[in-house]
Amino acid sequence: MEKYIIQHNFSVTKKERSALKNHGAFLIWFTGLSGSGKSTIANELEKALFAKKIHTYLLDGDNVRKGLNNNLSFSPEDRSENIRRIAEVANLMIDAGLVVLASFVSPYREDRENVKRIVGYNNFIEVFVNTPIEECERRDVKGLYAKARAGEIKNFTGVNAPYETPMAPDVEIDTTMVSVEEAVALILSVINKRFKF
Ligand code: ADP
Repeated sequence: MEKYIIQHNFSVTKKERSALKNHGAFLIWFTGLSGSGKSTIANELEKALFAKKIHTYLLDGDNVRKGLNNNLSFSPEDRSENIRRIAEVANLMIDAGLVVLASFVSPYREDRENVKRIVGYNNFIEVFVNTPIEECERRDVKGLYAKARAGEIKNFTGVNAPYETPMAPDVEIDTTMVSVEEAVALILSVINKRFKF
């Protein structure tokens, strides 16, 4: 089938869509353990960007898994497919001229590399929310660590499934040392250096 798929060249380009919005379009990818603080920081960052009149969209693990990816499990293969689809969606949103925030555990290095390949290395900022597992487990925001320790959840990252730490994240945040506001300020300063606002 694929050889019969020939892309149409549409007239309005990514650059033009982006120019209309008056800011760059790129992806801010939050990775880290469950309960590390990804969604909390992403939420506050989106609020800060919104206040600057930047057009954003936030993709989050739970939202995506309830809709687009509701047919995927937490097996390694399905986790990879989960991330691949999210990257393709983010890529479309970048093409639409948006600043996309994505909050996903995304435990496999190879999957995160794939995200970079899909959206392009220049359009990607990796934020590693590196909160120690003891603290994530103490917070146990969703009660999932207790369930995983009790053997009720299989493939739970950090308990009975691996987390491969990023080698060279653009930003690294340990939320036991840094407040949400400081984390947002840190990410904004990195974004400001790399992208036009
Ligand atoms: P994740 O999206 O990584 O699963 P959440 O953002 O849902 O994590 O939960 C993180 C929890 O940690 C929240 O209850 C949040 O209020 C708390 N928390 C405490 N300190 C911080 C901080 N400095 N940064 C982010 N979250 C924090």
